[in-house]
Amino acid sequence: MTKGTPSMGKKRKITHIRCRRCGRHSYRLDKKYCSACHYGLTTKIRKYAWQTIGAFLKYSK
Ligand SMILES: [Zn+2]
Repeated sequence: MTKGTPSMGKKRKITHIRCRRCGRHSYRLDKKYCSACHYGLTTKIRKYAWQTIGAFLKYSK
């Protein structure tokens, strides 16, 4: 078996497409939900406190 870039040609299965809710490339085609905002899994947008803190620290600089 070949290691490295040439063997990556086998990985042609699309797992994620662009999510229509959060716009990220995280919508899973097999599970039918977005891994970034949980679109398709819940009506509420996936959000955590640490994300809010991280955004606050990022934009407060
Ligand atoms: Zn999403």
